[in-house]
Amino acid sequence: MTTTAIQHFINGQISAGSSDDVQDVFNPATGQVTGRVTLASQSDVDTAVKAAIAAFPAWADTPPIRRARVLFKFLELLNTHKDALAEAITQEHGKVFTDAQGEVARGIDIVEFACGIPQLLKGDYTEQVSTGIDNWTTRQPLGVVAGITPFNFPVMVPMWMFPIAIATGNTFILKPSPLDPSASLMLADLLKQAGLPDGVFNVVQGGKESVAALMDHPEVKALSFVGSTPIANLIYERGAKHGKRVQALGGAKNHMVVMPDAHLDKAVDALIGAAYGSAGERCMAISVAVLVGDVADSVVPKLAERAKALKVKNGMQLDAEMGPIVTRQAHQRITGYIEKGVSEGAKLIVDGREFDTAQVGDDCADGFWMGGTLFDHVTPQMTIYKEEIFGPVLVCVRVPDVATAIQLINDHEFGNGVSCFTESGSVAREFGRRIQVGMVGINVPIPVPMAWHGFGGWKRSLFGDTHAYGEEGVRFYTKQKSIMQRWSDSIDNGAEFVMPTAK
Ligand code: NAD
Repeated sequence: MTTTAIQHFINGQISAGSSDDVQDVFNPATGQVTGRVTLASQSDVDTAVKAAIAAFPAWADTPPIRRARVLFKFLELLNTHKDALAEAITQEHGKVFTDAQGEVARGIDIVEFACGIPQLLKGDYTEQVSTGIDNWTTRQPLGVVAGITPFNFPVMVPMWMFPIAIATGNTFILKPSPLDPSASLMLADLLKQAGLPDGVFNVVQGGKESVAALMDHPEVKALSFVGSTPIANLIYERGAKHGKRVQALGGAKNHMVVMPDAHLDKAVDALIGAAYGSAGERCMAISVAVLVGDVADSVVPKLAERAKALKVKNGMQLDAEMGPIVTRQAHQRITGYIEKGVSEGAKLIVDGREFDTAQVGDDCADGFWMGGTLFDHVTPQMTIYKEEIFGPVLVCVRVPDVATAIQLINDHEFGNGVSCFTESGSVAREFGRRIQVGMVGINVPIPVPMAWHGFGGWKRSLFGDTHAYGEEGVRFYTKQKSIMQRWSDSIDNGAEFVMPTAK
């Protein structure tokens, strides 16, 4: 089988870089190596930063409307090539094609938002703050900024970052996950076709070494990171130590509360889709069902029936509901968590380890397959409750009332997303007000905010002050400047030694 060389994109060109380090890229459905990604050295990162520095002055000076026109063209190209991007995602990540299409569509939303940059950068103006003096604020780009992204959304998560970063006049270096790197080069190619000047958008492939080089590089002014909490924490601390702006989005353990008055069949539909969609490899996946009162007795059997019936197949088959796990190592980690859940006393209702690979066909026999797993009677002390499993494992916790549900969620280390299924307005209102989580859904299982609202969790799911995309994204990638101006006919003669006040 032929494998593709997946390299960097620096200064408008594919570049082999200077390092011989490579990593295999797999199709998780077949278990076959389909590509080899080059891993950047520190000097490759430096080359990319130099290209981005060189491109910055002209790009920052380009009027926002002209930067937006490049993004409008990019948008058109994305819409033409969106299925090719989705296919590239499925081939290297494994998620089902229709889900990959959804991922691309949510990325496109951000580009549409970034196309409105002239309006977003307008700034504020106050005439006559003192007699003859006007004061206004502008937002200017930072310079070279970088994005370090996870494997689970190889198109959407980079698009949470670079459309806004480049629309605001920065130049950008993307360091994608080496597990599914191909989509990053397709995006680079589309940006080039859209007329983006060379050096404005660069891709360095790689792992730890390239991230370290970006964290320490004095010319990288800001880091956007999305990935697991330990690395988010590291990036936040080390980036800040080097004087950078950092927004570092981390891991999650998202709960969905089902109240006794909820529409139970709709709640079960929501749990099945949100727990097992994308094999649970979403930072907004629901991994804990919090079943209030006696709903567990009717919900758990329904979940069990549905989890057993999941259509687990090669994601390119259009009726697939769940694809394979991203890597063999991730498969082993998830299997380890299932063992731990059993040994710690949780009740294993459906065991995804028993998945029969005969279902996926001979060509996929070596893929990284497992079925959906369901645990009941899970307690807050158990490892499978406390830690992020990041796989198709749903755990059920039984609680007596909504107050206990809220306390349970608020006590958790993570605070990314949460959902509450209820028909009661007052429960919904109280839940929304009291819950210590950044993104809340009422009868919405995966409440990923739209492009203009901004994405981010609380607690150890986000390190930094600003959320990704939306107006917070615009603020993150720009610094505010305040200009105060007067002209000589309003200036009194003589030096003033007192603090100036409005006159
Ligand atoms: P990861 O933390 O392993 O990797 C993320 C990025 O960091 C990758 O580019 C990777 O190459 C790099 N990296 C990995 N180890 C590193 C190290 N030791 N030093 C420096 N860089 C390193 O995460 P992942 O497995 O790719 O993605 C899954 C995780 O991402 C989950 O925890 C998930 O919850 C989280 N995630 C969070 C959000 C969010 O918005 N909060 C969104 C998507 C994914």
